Amino acid sequence: MIKRNQCIITLVAAVLLLSGPLVSGFCGGAQSGQPAPPESEGSETRDAGSGAGGSSSLGEYVDERQAMVAQQIEARGVEDNNVLEAMRAVPRHEFVSTAQQGQAYSDKPLPIGQGQTISQPYIVAYMTEILQLEAGDKVLEIGTGSGYQAAVLAEITNQVYTIEIIEELATQASERLQRLGYTEVRTTQGDGYYGWQEYAPFDAIIVTAAAGHIPPPLLRQLKPEGRMVIPVGGVYEVQSLMLVRKTSGGEVRTERLMPVRFVPFRGAAQQKSGE
Ligand code: SAH
Repeated sequence: MIKRNQCIITLVAAVLLLSGPLVSGFCGGAQSGQPAPPESEGSETRDAGSGAGGSSSLGEYVDERQAMVAQQIEARGVEDNNVLEAMRAVPRHEFVSTAQQGQAYSDKPLPIGQGQTISQPYIVAYMTEILQLEAGDKVLEIGTGSGYQAAVLAEITNQVYTIEIIEELATQASERLQRLGYTEVRTTQGDGYYGWQEYAPFDAIIVTAAAGHIPPPLLRQLKPEGRMVIPVGGVYEVQSLMLVRKTSGGEVRTERLMPVRFVPFRGAAQQKSGE
């Protein structure tokens, strides 16, 4: 809380000053669905789901990853060490097609097929920091996409649950997370509007697609003192990244963090208007 106001000001300033890549970079608009080249093969695995501090054994793009964290993330004010370490550890290039790998550490979102995008690294780090995660926290992600954000979360806590509505992406992400050693991340295909009741309640919820309203089931599945970060707004509107907090008494407080652009939340959210 303390740092956040400062952070918001810094962010707004950053948005104004840094222009292009930052503004257009927020998770990006939908990409045209060109066929994706095959995924790269033959990676070594890392220690599975060991929580904070696990580092990639992939050995590639290490310098690019360090530079990404220093120049795009720390420079913009993210300072939670768990988050910075996680961003240094996860091999982002493994979460995009081979054709995109050279761009994997650039300051922008990238297409992941099916018209969806992997968010800009800074946004992934910022949203993760906002959740104030500690090892052992139970976190739910809506919008698995490539699995990158889930892997970042898995570097911090071993209780990560993630839901993806598009079957092909859900299957690919699940295989990829296994292959890279993130074996404790639980994935499922479905409409994240309804959360994941079986494992609720959650200490934190992160939504990576923009909905017109905050899905009430997600609010119900948040623990008292839990945090949710969610982009709210229509596809053609300026969306707002919101922090939603539940007090120890169960009251819900929302706070607008910054303007963003995410791909749309599909499924039930499009028919409902909130409760
Ligand atoms: N977090 C992802 C990128 C998110 S892109 C990553 O790190 O790669 C947003 C994702 O949300 C897309 O894959 C989209 O299919 C998914 N999505 C949209 N609506 C959804 C819903 N109702 N339930 C679950 N996933 C949804």
